[in-house]
Amino acid sequence: MTEEKHFVEIRHAKKSFGTLEVLKDINLTVERGQIVGIIGSSGSGKSTLLRAINDLDPLSGGEVWLDGVQVNKSLPHRQYEKHINAMRQQVGMVFQHFNLFPHLTVRDNVTMAPKLLKGISNDEAETLAREQLEHVGMLEKIDAFPSQLSGGQKQRVAIARALAMKPKLMLFDEATSALDPELVEEVNQVMKKLAEEHMTMIIVTHEMDFAASVCDRVLFMEKGVVVEEGPPEVIFKNPEKQRTREFLRKHI
Ligand code: ADP
Ligand code: MG
Repeated sequence: MTEEKHFVEIRHAKKSFGTLEVLKDINLTVERGQIVGIIGSSGSGKSTLLRAINDLDPLSGGEVWLDGVQVNKSLPHRQYEKHINAMRQQVGMVFQHFNLFPHLTVRDNVTMAPKLLKGISNDEAETLAREQLEHVGMLEKIDAFPSQLSGGQKQRVAIARALAMKPKLMLFDEATSALDPELVEEVNQVMKKLAEEHMTMIIVTHEMDFAASVCDRVLFMEKGVVVEEGPPEVIFKNPEKQRTREFLRKHI
């Protein structure tokens, strides 16, 4: 049997919290440069699945692979710490609630991890911050503190901060759900730009139009199961499964 190599591969992922089965045998593959959307009602396991990719919520069963390396390896503690730190540096995450450090300027928010983890110099850090902030249209706010920014601006800085680590994969977990409607578009534009640059992304979203416009493939999850997956034109326009149709009727 030949085994295909996928850029991201989740095999038979299972996760329980006590007696609650949150992920029930999930399989997911993402190729380099692909953009995969995950949709589904609240509580269906989307965030747990994303967190499993970084082994933030270790799976109860199954495997996660990134670029040929198993992420959730069982290793002696010291070795595991080293391994997982190296893996996490390759994956950028952006959450619903911008978790910028409130006491640090935008500049320091962006440069902290690369300085700490990659030991770059102050000059390199300054260049890096400017590059990444320029990319998300936030260069003019380099000296601002998070409290001086709108929600959309904070989220763009959070994206710049994730990009500063030069990740090979970006995970977005409802990055725009907490924003006022008029601020959603500026964040979506940044994500679209990343898509055009062929960043590999997994995007959990409630915004069906956005998912349809940016994703190569969309998964519909319900109660810890992938009910259906396919290209957006199929999932949104002509889904096979009754449950997908019911979900979409409520959300489009
Ligand atoms: P989604 O992101 O699709 O809304 P989640 O992955 O956040 O779903 O949650 C799936 C289910 O797992 C929910 O029922 C949630 O309450 C439960 N859950 C998530 N994290 C924990 C946890 N740390 N402890 C117990 N239950 C949890
Ligand atoms: Mg969630």
